[in-house]
Amino acid sequence: MIDFDEMINRHLTTEHRPKQVGRYYPSEIGTCIRKIWYSYKYPQEIKADLLKVFHLGNMMHDFVAEVLKSEKNPDVELLKTELPLKLEVDDLVISGRVDDLLLLKTQGKNILVEVKSAKTVKFQTEPSRHHVMQLQLYMHATNVHTGIILYLDKTTLESKVFTIHYNEKMVNDILNRFKSLHTLLKCNELPKAEAKTDTETSWMCRFCEYRDKCDRNEG
Ligand code: SF4
Repeated sequence: MIDFDEMINRHLTTEHRPKQVGRYYPSEIGTCIRKIWYSYKYPQEIKADLLKVFHLGNMMHDFVAEVLKSEKNPDVELLKTELPLKLEVDDLVISGRVDDLLLLKTQGKNILVEVKSAKTVKFQTEPSRHHVMQLQLYMHATNVHTGIILYLDKTTLESKVFTIHYNEKMVNDILNRFKSLHTLLKCNELPKAEAKTDTETSWMCRFCEYRDKCDRNEG
């Protein structure tokens, strides 16, 4: 018989490329700064389980694009999917092809759509801060200053939508965050254990592959 789990694993395996100091990714900047730092200093292959989660996210994104493109929904026009982004700030580059971002036109206005799959949307009363940060950066890079974060329930396809407006102060804070990460990487200085010290973000530590190093304050 066939081992389909193993076939999926092989199908999703990608070549592992360590990240380069000086090149940063919008999707990461809202997470723990120490964890991002570790991911440059101690690169790890993405585990099979996580690759599956990412792939499921891509499948959900394709479904959202299909719904937005449907002729049964004539009020919206899907203009673009998978927008490439590049921002040069001092001596660093923030870049990436954004798979979960859509540009659509509704009521004569362009808006960015950031799609996030969720285990459940029942208790989602507000968008996650790190998703808002990500979208703010995309709004800055594309000059489209209205966006929505669309959460889609993986089991029921129920959705929750939050409208986000461009916030210049938040964008400046995010850009400063990239700069500070860049400096800490260049000086080889371990950042503070950010997620662990805040009750709102300490849940991130449960899924952190660098937890042992972090507990030992290993730099
Ligand atoms: S364990 Fe928590 S605080 Fe430490 S690096 Fe990971 S996410 Fe950050």
